[in-house]
Amino acid sequence: MENIIELNKDGSLLVPDMPVIPYIPGDGTGPDIWNAARLVLDAAVKTAYKNKKKLVFKKILAGEEAFGQTGEWLPKETLKQILKYKVAIKGPLTTPVGHGMRSLNVAIRQELDLFACIRPVKYIPGVPSPCNEPEKIDMVIFRENTEDLYLGIEWEAGTRQARDAVCFINQKTSKNLDEGTTGIGIKPISEKNTKRIMRKAIQFAIDHNRKNVTIMHKGNIMKFTEGAFLKWGYEVGKNEFKDSIITEQNLRDKFDGKIPEGKIILKDRIADNMFQQVLSRPSEYDIIAAPNLNGDYISDLLAAMVGGLGLAPGANIGDNCAVFEATHGTAPKYAGLDKVNPGSVILSGAMMLDHLGWHEASKVIHSTLQKAILNKKVTYDLARQIPGAIELKCSEFARELCASMI
Ligand code: NAP
Repeated sequence: MENIIELNKDGSLLVPDMPVIPYIPGDGTGPDIWNAARLVLDAAVKTAYKNKKKLVFKKILAGEEAFGQTGEWLPKETLKQILKYKVAIKGPLTTPVGHGMRSLNVAIRQELDLFACIRPVKYIPGVPSPCNEPEKIDMVIFRENTEDLYLGIEWEAGTRQARDAVCFINQKTSKNLDEGTTGIGIKPISEKNTKRIMRKAIQFAIDHNRKNVTIMHKGNIMKFTEGAFLKWGYEVGKNEFKDSIITEQNLRDKFDGKIPEGKIILKDRIADNMFQQVLSRPSEYDIIAAPNLNGDYISDLLAAMVGGLGLAPGANIGDNCAVFEATHGTAPKYAGLDKVNPGSVILSGAMMLDHLGWHEASKVIHSTLQKAILNKKVTYDLARQIPGAIELKCSEFARELCASMI
């Protein structure tokens, strides 16, 4: 009998001691970082639970390997397996250029309705950062994952569809777009999808005793998409979480700026302002809820602020399953060199352990990673910025973490 994670009625997980976890190693540097991460995950679980618990990894296909074996970049069977086992982990996948899918990662998120892209960004002491006070950075981004410009409704200039769309727009508005040379992209943002990502963000803030939730939007310009995201976001806070939330406006008007005990502030920032705010006043931001494209941009900025993509974890979570993944790409120039930092998949794995409720194993990973960095035993990306660092290969870094687990 296979050990399958079950979903309780309230959406929580029923996790057996030896759950099957499907994994996709990924393309390019994917196999290097996945093999390293797997070593660390297995060792952390063993350290935390001796032999009482174990992750039973099961390989599934996507990307170049899948294409080579099946002629498909993302086989249906892969999606079925993720749905069946409910929690999966993956390395980065190449985006096929000029053919096939727009992006395999986007396709996985959309096909499985993994509507919440969750990216924690917290400074690890010892990691070189371009910021003055990186220790103040401790944010979690909730990026809507299923719509916005990422839905891929786009028509190339000159095509029949683009011409039809331009004619429609010119008829319905006072615009005068050029019919033959205008490309079109559509930006759908819906109440249903906005409200579910907002619920997840606010619930997370409540569950983790966080101080505030900021809606990042460009609603001043895109009124009926990003502006609607803002409006629906506030509606969720005000109507569904009124015991826990007060708005920043209320805080000023009714509470003279003093936060009442146990309340979480719900505020918003226009996207361009948000970028300078997180850089200049990081301690004022905690949970960020954003539509898809804004969420994408701010994630990489924040990752860079705490040491780069090599250490940035991520999760894509829906109501039926979750996929944990490295947030960077395949870094093809380093493929097969056993060189890059496996930290992103390792930390995504730690998020996965937390998702399973295996917090002890997750803590082991965080503390050993911290130790290795303070000892300046790091991969090339950090070594080139830390004076006196000892540069380790990807696999050596993993073995270093395993050796220091207690
Ligand atoms: P990338 O693979 O993220 O690499 C960009 C740069 O980031 C690398 O050259 C390297 O910087 C640094 N980097 C990436 N991974 C690292 C790691 N593990 N450790 C240390 N540094 C790391 O971005 P890209 O070159 O634009 O994209 C390559 C392919 O990946 C494309 O096909 C793209 O579509 C795909 N992609 C996939 C995902 C995903 O699977 N989630 C995400 C993004 C992109 P230095 O050169 O400075 O060393």
